[in-house]
Amino acid sequence: MKKVETVCGPVPVTELGFVMPHEHLLIDTYDVRRNSEGVLLELPTMIGEVADYVRAGGRTMVEQTIYGLHPDPEGLRKISEATGAHIIAGTGFYHQQYYPEWLDHWSVAQIAERMHGHITKGFPGTNIKAGIMGELGTHHRGVKPNEKKVLQAAAQVQRETGRPIGTHALFTEVGVEQLNILEEAGADLDITVIGHCDTNRDLNYSRKLLHRGVWIAYDAVGQLDKQRDERRAASIATLISEGWLNRILISCDIAGRTRLTIHGGEGYKFLITKFLPMLRNAGVTEEQIKILTESNPQTFLAGK
Ligand SMILES: [Zn+2]
Repeated sequence: MKKVETVCGPVPVTELGFVMPHEHLLIDTYDVRRNSEGVLLELPTMIGEVADYVRAGGRTMVEQTIYGLHPDPEGLRKISEATGAHIIAGTGFYHQQYYPEWLDHWSVAQIAERMHGHITKGFPGTNIKAGIMGELGTHHRGVKPNEKKVLQAAAQVQRETGRPIGTHALFTEVGVEQLNILEEAGADLDITVIGHCDTNRDLNYSRKLLHRGVWIAYDAVGQLDKQRDERRAASIATLISEGWLNRILISCDIAGRTRLTIHGGEGYKFLITKFLPMLRNAGVTEEQIKILTESNPQTFLAGK
């Protein structure tokens, strides 16, 4: 039985149940964004939000808060212990705007060593291991040199550890450029996902990636500034009808206060309570929904 490292230790992938494969629970983007929206730090609040998700039928979250976003693996473990939700932590560097200056001087090998350590030994000072590399981001207008190094390092660590990779690719077709770099560096596309594909409304972008053999994520569900959710649901239904069911992941990528229930938002359960009905309306069957939300992320997280 394949297991995945959660913040509370290894868990058989089949026990992950309903998975949201790209979320944030404890995150702080103030350094770059200079506002409080992306500052989620209150443990009791986040325990309440995850408990709300579990009550709605959720079981697992992949928490892709990494260097630059102020990850807190110990905090994630407390949330997991308090709620019973499985939480899988990411490792890596977010994107150029969030990189430390010292990354300019780090080689691909040094970056790889850091991620490798988080996966095999644990985050410094803890016994909590990362279960995924991501979200590894790039600028939407093109990959910066340091971002390229991070992607190349991830591909190397993936070959060594069999852990999956998730990216952050907004708006444009930059995911193709990410894929080119990852593929050239030897990444296994069976366990690699290009993120935020639903922030580019052109379905042909999704198709272009899928034809290359990589996973795509429609993980900006509920983010109406990117596109309407009915349109997202229709796009997913179209891609399923074209045979791509087994290469799609869905999530909400919640990283802001206004989306939390405590601040009047729909919370993490939005995917279950609001988006799944839209998928059904678009013609996606219950069996297909189960694959999208359970077996797909479980297969992806199992790694190699
Ligand atoms: Zn994210």
